[in-house]
Formats: sequence, structure tokens, C-alpha cells
Amino acid sequence: MLEALPVGIGLFEVLDDDFRFRYGNRALARLLMLERMPSDGQSVGDVFRRDEQSAIIELFRLVSLSREPQSYFAAESVLEPAGDQIWNIDAYPVFTAGRVSYIMVLAEQADEKLQARQREHLEANRLRQKADHLASLEKAKSEFLRLASHELRAPAAMLGGYLSMIEDESLGRIPERLRPVLPLLKAKIAQINLLANEMVEAARLEDGRLQLKRKRIDLRALFRASLTAAEQTATPKHRLRFDDRTGHELWVLADPMRLEIVMGNLLDNAIKYSPAGGEVTAQVSAVGGLALLSVRDQGIGIAAEDMSRLFVRFSRLTPYGDVPGTGLGLYLARELARLHGGDIVAASKLGKGSEFTLSLPLESIKK
Ligand code: ADP
Repeated sequence: MLEALPVGIGLFEVLDDDFRFRYGNRALARLLMLERMPSDGQSVGDVFRRDEQSAIIELFRLVSLSREPQSYFAAESVLEPAGDQIWNIDAYPVFTAGRVSYIMVLAEQADEKLQARQREHLEANRLRQKADHLASLEKAKSEFLRLASHELRAPAAMLGGYLSMIEDESLGRIPERLRPVLPLLKAKIAQINLLANEMVEAARLEDGRLQLKRKRIDLRALFRASLTAAEQTATPKHRLRFDDRTGHELWVLADPMRLEIVMGNLLDNAIKYSPAGGEVTAQVSAVGGLALLSVRDQGIGIAAEDMSRLFVRFSRLTPYGDVPGTGLGLYLARELARLHGGDIVAASKLGKGSEFTLSLPLESIKK
């Protein structure tokens, strides 16, 4: 009956430190590519091919010692297809009076197992390559940030300088036809400056070089000043409103320049992403030990499925049309808020508008 089975079956007797062949069916001889059926009493060395002998002896020793079934895969180290010589052996202990007296082996053609391993191997390689590729892209992005931000800042500063000189007519009288263009140029240069600053800050953040310069400041005053600055980018269709729910100063120990970046970003976004205009509300309140600064708009809103990508570096959501931006602003804003021990959260409804809330720990009042 055992002869009829498609799997190879063999029985080896355990003798001190040796294993003797006692029985094997034809499938075993075929699978192990033996020229003829071993005879009763032959040792493992005589049964298995030279390159497999030590591994099989190891396997049998392991079974006798552990008293548990063990497996051996013949193509373990050879991941290229190795002809017919691919099999899988399971070795089981057979006990007599509590001692491992025999080892029973089941040998199977292991093409499938080999193929599965090859697939795993290829997949692992592919993933590794992909990870390497992503890591190098990530590095290139950071490198680009560093370079571009520095290259951009100097010319932007120079343009800004000349523009101021033109404006105050220290370079001569402004031709009438140039006058209406000046505010536009100023706004564009402010935009370049903002982008360059965002890039410098993001590069610093990534290198761990960003250090806050904290001071005791009134958040309410800072927020109000940011709102006034944001008015430059608003159109006549926008109404900017300051809604103070506290009625008193909100003291924090924070880096004013960095918080200006955060607030400026939230306010600029609220205006940028409300192309049809509407109300932009900057609200201040305090809850527990936290100051809450929220910016609410009635703009294009954000789809629920896009919310998770909002704060991801360089990510911009689909219908941004010709709205300028880098996708760095919110990433940077939230990182800066977190460096201050605060955070930024967003709530939005597509087509209705968005609300971004910055929370910052208030200075604890010493009594
Ligand atoms: P960007 O430089 O593109 O403005 P941000 O990091 O500031 O980058 O914002 C990331 C993306 O989040 C934007 O490209 C935009 O799609 C979306 N977003 C940000 N703020 C708003 C908002 N107030 N309303 C709608 N979408 C917004």
C-alpha cells in the first residue's frame, strides 16, 4: 500500500549516533534521485547524495534531540531552479519506550514551495529596491529644499530692495504707467519671500536645526497683526473679521517669527482657497490651559478622503487650479505648532468651507 503513495516514505533506525535505513518506498528513491533502492541497514551517508548528507544527519539529530518533527527544504540555499533535485523532507520521531527509536521521513516534490520562495524573494527584492528608490527621492527632495531656498532668498531680497527704492522714488520719479503695477509686484515678491521662508524653515526642520527663539508674547495681538498683513492678499470679495472671545491678553512663551509663519499660512490659505470670496474669520478663545486660534473660511472646502493628506509635505489637493503654493505650508505650520507643544487640526466640508484650529499651551500663571 505504501508503494502506491505519491509521496516518498522512509524509515531510519536511530542507533547511538548513526541512522540506518530500514525501509523506503519507490517514490522515495525517485524523489531523492537514488539510482537504486538502498538496502536494509545502510547508513544515511550511503543513502543520500554527498551534498545533502550532512544536512540530513543534522535534521535527524535535531529530531532525536528535540523529539519533535522537523523539516528540511532541499533547495534552501539555491533559489535558482535546481532541476529535479527539489524536495521537501519532513522527519518525524517514532518512540519506543519513551526513546526516539526510529525516524520516519516523508519526502515530497517541492516545486510549489520553491516557486513560492522565489516569488517571496523577488517580491522582497522589489520592495527593497522601491524603498531604496523612495529613500533617495526623499533625500533629493530635502537637498532640493535646501538649495532652492537659499538660491531664492537672495534674489528675492534684492528685488524687494529695489522695489522699495522705486516706490519711495529714490531712483527717480515713478512713471504714471508703472504706478498701478507696483502693488502687484510687491505682492508677488512677498509671495516669493514667503515660499523661500517656508522652504528654509522646512529644510531646517528636517536637519533638526530649527531652534525656537521664545519670548513672552500676547497671542491675541500677534493674531490681529497677522490678519492685518493677510489683508494684502485678500480681494474686495473677501471680508476679514477678527472675533475675540476672550477680551484679554493671551500670554504664551513662543517664537513670534515662527508663529507668524503659522498664522500667516492659515490666513493665506483661507483667502487663497476661497476664490469666490466670502468671510474669513480669525477667532481667538481660551479653553483650559490652551489658547485656540481658529481660521474659518467659506471657500472650496476639502473632500473627506483628502483630509489625511493635508499636512503631508509637498502634498496639494486636486482642484487648486492656478492657486500658487508648494504644499509645504500646512506641513510646516503643524510641525512648528507641535514644537511649541501645540497642534493644528482641520475640519472641512467640500464646497462649504474649512476651519483650521491652532492650539497652544498658555503660559502657566505663577501664584
Ligand atoms: P499650499 O502651498 O499648496 O497652499 P499647504 O500645505 O498650505 O500648501 O496646503 C496643502 C493643501 O491643502 C493645499 O494645496 C490645498 O489643496 C489644501 N488646503 C489648505 N488650506 C485649505 C483651505 N483653507 N481650504 C481648502 N483647501 C485647503
